[in-house]
Amino acid sequence: MDIKASDKQYVMGTYNRFDLLITAGEGCYCFDEKGNRYIDLTSGIGVNCLGYCDREWADAVAAQARTLSHTSNLFYTEPCVKLAKELCLRTGASKVFFGNSGAEANEGAIKVARKYSYDKYGSGRSTVITLKNSFHGRTITTLAATGQDVFHNYFFPFTEGFRYAESENIKALEAELDDTVCAVMIEFIQGEGGVIAQDKEYVSALRKICDEKDILLIADEVQTGVGRTGTFLASEGYGVKPDITTLAKGLGGGLPIGAVLVYGKAESVMGFSSHGSTFGGNPVVCAGSLKVLERIDDAFLADVRKKGAFAMKKLEGAKGVESISGKGLMIGVKPVDKKSADIVKAGIERGVLMLTAKDKVRLLPPLTITEKQLDEALDVLLAILAE
Ligand SMILES: *Cc1c(COP(=O)(O)O)cnc(C)c1O
Repeated sequence: MDIKASDKQYVMGTYNRFDLLITAGEGCYCFDEKGNRYIDLTSGIGVNCLGYCDREWADAVAAQARTLSHTSNLFYTEPCVKLAKELCLRTGASKVFFGNSGAEANEGAIKVARKYSYDKYGSGRSTVITLKNSFHGRTITTLAATGQDVFHNYFFPFTEGFRYAESENIKALEAELDDTVCAVMIEFIQGEGGVIAQDKEYVSALRKICDEKDILLIADEVQTGVGRTGTFLASEGYGVKPDITTLAKGLGGGLPIGAVLVYGKAESVMGFSSHGSTFGGNPVVCAGSLKVLERIDDAFLADVRKKGAFAMKKLEGAKGVESISGKGLMIGVKPVDKKSADIVKAGIERGVLMLTAKDKVRLLPPLTITEKQLDEALDVLLAILAE
């Protein structure tokens, strides 16, 4: 079977794939059908936080698949409860809802915020403010939440009740917070938008205003969460506690899962029949995710910070690099003149996989990558940038 031709024939053409067929992976390496090896600085877009096919993770997943592969949420299961408890202990959240993706987690968070407001204030207080240049997902509602006009095409009508505020401008945000607003949703570091970190003062001021107006703060940590930025949640690095946090990407270590974490006043909003998911909390996925949490301890996070600092130092001021952004192992590299997509293509030819985020090259290596492997991959990137 000609995989590439059949993909074009049978898979809906929503992706512009690179000319690379990946057939296997181990740690931070993956392999194509000819056996060529690549250092992967993409982690399947921030998903494979323990690398490809981590042995302990795969064993946990396989053992669970042989014991109880799936049942429904009509019954109790152990991995789901253990994972929820562990997430609450790690984050200070009170309760967790499990879905299957980032977009779905954000949909859940929006439902929590709207119901919180409806229960307390009645109808008419349902607007969610998000930031310009944000990315929150691909469903009709999360596209509406995404503060980029390019995403607001074709699929009309989009869900009502979203407005967008300029980042880093607390006055502009405050001006949007009228009595129709129930929540503000932000990414601490915008991922798809170009690896752009909010500054600390902005986030603290935002937290304060939200408290004063009883507006919920939703942290979309789908990309920044689960150790990516060197703390378990990026919110810890900012010293703020959101009312709702969403996780997905890295949480499953390679299997689909999304989570809505609620804190304090948001904890009792969702009661019986207010939300649900057939696959949410699936035992196999949760067993893998528990392994991810078990591995990401304080020493692991310190190592992520160390490797992140190493990468930043190596890239900062190098030839062809205009600027560096991000935190931990979520890194944006702005080239002086080259197009980010061309750099990624050149990387593939030289055995290094990278991502783009707008005009930047985006690096989301597995959190388990060694400094030596990172060094070797960055040498390839720097050589491309210097040409
Ligand atoms: C990837 C991403 C999403 C969407 O996640 P899916 O699992 O693709 O639905 C939402 N928010 C952020 C910040 C993301 O990076």
